[in-house]
Amino acid sequence: MITGAAGFIGSALVRHLIQRTSHEVLAFDKLTYAGNLSSLVSAAASNRYSFVQADICDAEAVSRALADFEPQVVAHLAAESHVDRSIDGPAVFVQTNLIGTFVMLNEALDYWRDLNDADKATFRFHHISTDEVFGSLGEEGFFTETTPYDPRSPYSASKAGSDHLVRAWGHTYGLPVLVTNCSNNYGPYHFPEKLIPLIIIRALNGEPLPVYGDGSNVRDWLFVEDHAAALQEVFENGAPGQTYNVGGNAERKNIEVVRAICAILDRLRPRTDGKPYADQITHVADRPGHDHRYAIDASKIRTELGWTPSVTFEEGIARTVEWYLSNEGWWRDILAQRNATERLGNG
Ligand code: NAD
Repeated sequence: MITGAAGFIGSALVRHLIQRTSHEVLAFDKLTYAGNLSSLVSAAASNRYSFVQADICDAEAVSRALADFEPQVVAHLAAESHVDRSIDGPAVFVQTNLIGTFVMLNEALDYWRDLNDADKATFRFHHISTDEVFGSLGEEGFFTETTPYDPRSPYSASKAGSDHLVRAWGHTYGLPVLVTNCSNNYGPYHFPEKLIPLIIIRALNGEPLPVYGDGSNVRDWLFVEDHAAALQEVFENGAPGQTYNVGGNAERKNIEVVRAICAILDRLRPRTDGKPYADQITHVADRPGHDHRYAIDASKIRTELGWTPSVTFEEGIARTVEWYLSNEGWWRDILAQRNATERLGNG
C-alpha cells in the first residue's frame, strides 16, 4: 500500500513495482494539487494495480483500505512537499505531514495487531522522509543517520515531527517501522513547480529562468527511479527500527543544475534565434531561510543493503530533459489546470 502514490516519487515507486517486480500495489492518494493520475497510466493497465482516492487524515478510510487490501508493506509517501508553499501556508503541512502520519501509524498499528504471528513478523511500515530534517551544512561534511535533527523550514519541521512519531510507534508499540531520509529527487513526472522541471518548461516558453540568490546553494541530486529501487531494497531487506539515508553522490550548486539544463536544451532543442538558453537566467531574491547545503552519506544503505545509484547526474539530467521534451502533453495538461510555475514562498 503506497500513500502519496500519485505524486512524483510515489508514482515512480508504483511504476517500478508494477514493471519490475511481482508485488501487488494499492495506490492510495487524496489527489491534491500535486497528485496526478496521469503519472500512473502505465501502471494502471496491470491487474496487480488498484487505486483508492482518500485522505490519510481520514482514519476510517485508512482503516478500510488496510482491511480490504491486507498489505504486507505500507510505504508512506503522502505529504505536502514544497518548501516554498510551506512558507506561505504552513497549516496544511502540519495537518498532512504530522496529523496524517499519526493517523497512518494508529491505523497501521491496529491492523498489525490483528495479523497472525507470521504476518506480524514480516509487516513493515516504511516512512519516506527527507534529508532536510538535518538542517543545513557548511562547505564540508555529510548527513549520516545519526546527525542531530535541526529542521529550519515549516516543511522540514513537519517532516522531522513525522519521523519522530514513526520511531516512537516503533519503540513504544513494537510496530516494525523503517525510515528513509533522502536527498533531492529529480526525473520524469516531476511537478512543474520544482526547480528542474520549472527551468526546463520556462526555458522552452522563452521565459526568464529564476535562480534564487546567487545560485550557490548545494543539493545532492538523486534520479527518482534510483530512489524507487532504494525504497524497495529497504522495505524488503532493511532491519525493522532502522533508518537509512539515501543520496545520489551528486552534489551540485543550483546554478550548475540550471546551466546543465540549458546546455542540454541548446543541443536537443536550440532556440530559434540561435542564442544560448543560459541568456534567460536571472537571479531573484533568495528564499527566506534558504538552507545552504545538503549532502548525504549513503554508506549505510550501500554496505548493508548493497544499493547504489545506477545513473550519474549527467545521465539522469539528460534523460529528464529528454522526457520533458517528449512528454509535453503531461506537463501542459497540468499547467492548463494549475498555475504551477509562479513564484511562491517570498515570506
Ligand atoms: P509530491 O508533492 O509530488 O506528492 C505528494 C502526493 O501526496 C500527491 O500525490 C498528493 O496528492 C498526495 N497527498 C498529499 N496530501 C495527502 C493526504 N492528506 N492524503 C493522501 N494523499 C495526499 O511529493 P514527492 O516529491 O513525491 O514526495 C513524496 C515523499 O517523499 C514526501 O513525503 C516527501 O517529503 C518525501 N521526499 C521528497 C523528496 C523530493 O526531492 N521530492 C526528497 C526526499 C523525500
